[in-house]
Amino acid sequence: MKNFYKILAGCFFVLPLILAFNFMPARALQVVYPKTQSTQISAASTFIIGSTAPDAKLKINDIDVKVHDNGSFVQVVPLNDGVNEIKIDSQDSKEHNTMTYIINRVPQKVPESMQAALEEFAPDEFIYAAVLKDNTPLRAQPDEYAKRLTHMGKDTVLMINGKKGDYYRVSLTPTENAWVKSDCIVKYSAINEKMLATASKVSLSEDNLYNYIKTDLSFHIPFKIIETSNGLNMELYNLDKNAADTMLFQTSGDVKSLTVNTVAPDKTSTYFVELKNKLWGYDAYYEDNTLVLKIRKAPDIDKEKPLKNITIFLDAGHGADDAGAIGPTGEKEKDINLDIVKKLKQTLEDEGANVLLTRKDDTDVPLYERVKMMRDSDALISLSIHANALADGADPYEKHGTSVFYYNRESVELAKTLRDVITKKLGTKDDGVGMHSLVMTRPTMPLSVLIEVAYMIHPDEYKLLLDEKFRLKAAEAVKDGLKEYLLNSVKSDGIN
Ligand SMILES: [Zn+2]
Repeated sequence: MKNFYKILAGCFFVLPLILAFNFMPARALQVVYPKTQSTQISAASTFIIGSTAPDAKLKINDIDVKVHDNGSFVQVVPLNDGVNEIKIDSQDSKEHNTMTYIINRVPQKVPESMQAALEEFAPDEFIYAAVLKDNTPLRAQPDEYAKRLTHMGKDTVLMINGKKGDYYRVSLTPTENAWVKSDCIVKYSAINEKMLATASKVSLSEDNLYNYIKTDLSFHIPFKIIETSNGLNMELYNLDKNAADTMLFQTSGDVKSLTVNTVAPDKTSTYFVELKNKLWGYDAYYEDNTLVLKIRKAPDIDKEKPLKNITIFLDAGHGADDAGAIGPTGEKEKDINLDIVKKLKQTLEDEGANVLLTRKDDTDVPLYERVKMMRDSDALISLSIHANALADGADPYEKHGTSVFYYNRESVELAKTLRDVITKKLGTKDDGVGMHSLVMTRPTMPLSVLIEVAYMIHPDEYKLLLDEKFRLKAAEAVKDGLKEYLLNSVKSDGIN
C-alpha cells in the first residue's frame, strides 16, 4: 500500500489527509475522552469516548455498551460528588483489556470577581483611565463570560466609578455602567474636566465597497453600535459638544440618511444611520483621533450566477497542535475541517467566487490572526468550518446534527439559510441556529457564521465525517446555502 500512497502523493498535496481518513479499526481498547485517567469535572455526568475491536463485548461499570461497526463507542456516565471510579472492560475473541478512570466531581467555582465586594467610588475618587490595546471587551457584568457590550480600541478614555474583584466599573452615562478587566487599562489620575471630548466635524464619504461616516474627536471616547431593522445607531459617550449637532446628512451611497443628535444632558450623542439596503456589515475604529464608521455597500449579485465575483472567506477550524475534537477512533477534527474547506473552496471557485483561506495546510493560525485576516479581506461573507463535540454533562446521543452560529443580527438570515439547506441536503438532524459569542462570529464585517457540520463524538456522524463523499456533499450543501442566501437577498433588497 505504501507505494500506492507515494504515487498518490505526487498527484495530491493532501497525503496526510488520505492517510488520516484511511481508517482501520484499532484492535486494542483506546479511550480518547476523558483525556487523562485521573481528572476533575464539575458536571453531573461525563462521557467515555473511544474504540475497541468491533466484535468486542464492552462494559463500562458493568453496564453493556454498544460498540459500532468501526469499533467506536460513546457512553454517558453519571457522576457522584467526590471520587468516581470508572471501569472499562473490553473482551473480544483475542484480547481482554481493562482500564480504570478516576474522576473527581467538584462543585463549580463562582468566578472570583462575582464573589468580591463592590467598591463604590465617590465622584471625587473617579479615575480617568485609558484602554491598553485594541479589541478590548466592555462587558455587562464583571465576569469573563459576561455579554460584550462593545469592543474598545487602544487609548479609549474611560471614566471608572467602582471596582469588583479584578474588574473596574465604567461609567457610560449617569445611569449606565459597564465593566472592563483591570489589566486592560492604565490609570491616569483622578477625574477632571478633560474627561469630556469634543467632536469638531462629521463627514460622509464612499469608495467602491464602503460608505464611511467620520467624526473628528479631541480624544478617543467609548462608543456602542446597535443594529436596527434598517441600519445602525451609534452612541458616543462622554461627549461635551458635537459640531454636527442636529444636522441631517444625505449621501449618494448606500446611506439613505444620517442624523446626528444633539449632545444630551447625559453627555451622549446618538447617530442614526438609515440604509437603502439591508446591512451587509460594518466596522468602527479610530484613525488617529477620527472615529470611522465603515459600512459595507450592497454587493452586485448576478441572478444567474449569484456567487460570481463574490469574495468568501473560509476558515478551517483548529490546526497543528490544536487538533479540535477527537473522534472515538482518534481522528482529528482539524483534518476534517480542512478537507471540507478545500472542497468548498473548489466548488465556490467553480461558481465564480473569489475565495480566501486562513489556512491551506496543517498549520496553526492564532485565532486573533484569523480575525485580522478576515477583517482585512474585504470578503462579503466569512464561514468558519468545524465539527462539533460536547462538554461534560450532555448526552452525545441526544444532542447531535448540524448547527450554525452567529453573533450579530446582520448574520442571522445567513445562519438560518445555511442551516436549512445543509440539513436538507445532508439529512442531518437540525441542531439549531444559535447566537454565540465566538472569536470567529463576533466580527461585524464580513457577515460571519460558524458551521458545525456534524458531531465528532456521535458514532454515526463521525462515520459520515470520515467519508470523503460526505465531506464533498457537505461542501456542496454549504455552497448551495450561500447561493440561496444571496438570491434571497436580491429579492428582499430589490437590488440589481
Ligand atoms: Zn472546532
